[in-house]
Amino acid sequence: MDLRENEQFVQLAPASDAALRFIGRIRTPWTTREDCPRQGRIDGPECRIELDHDWHDALDGLEAYQTVEVLYWLDQSRRDLIRQSPRSDGKTVGTFALRSPARPNPIGTSSVRLLRIADGVLHVQGLDCVDGTPLIDLKPDRCAFTPKAPEQPGDSQTA
Ligand code: SAM
Repeated sequence: MDLRENEQFVQLAPASDAALRFIGRIRTPWTTREDCPRQGRIDGPECRIELDHDWHDALDGLEAYQTVEVLYWLDQSRRDLIRQSPRSDGKTVGTFALRSPARPNPIGTSSVRLLRIADGVLHVQGLDCVDGTPLIDLKPDRCAFTPKAPEQPGDSQTA
């Protein structure tokens, strides 16, 4: 992929560490990266998160949440940029100061509005990815979530 003025990249050895397991696909109205919103909107178009059959039962209980955190693999991204020029104007900023899809491990996250779940498919609003983007994980919204497991000593530790 092309570099913009003053952008920098690093030469990387092939990745050899943690392997991800994709668990489904995200279906959206956008067929190219350029068509997508920069960030999903909670009042955006309805999208579908299609879970692979093996994981359907793992959705049990998620319907109780209005907002769900979605993690996805931005598979069309380059992964070697250390400085980026979001406005293509020669001014750059470090990759970790951006939510750009170009990052060493191109994980996208969105908090989406859960409309309904039917037959292993989540109907949601708030996504910003290309149709067919691989799904990594789903979690209840962190604000609405209270841990179900017993407390641990670290829970009460403060500075
Ligand atoms: N909401 C996520 C986040 O903040 O982590 C992603 C934000 S990222 C700026 C969204 C942009 O990534 C879209 O506007 C599109 O240009 C690009 N994009 C969408 N799907 C992609 C994919 N499968 N691979 C690479 N880039 C993608």
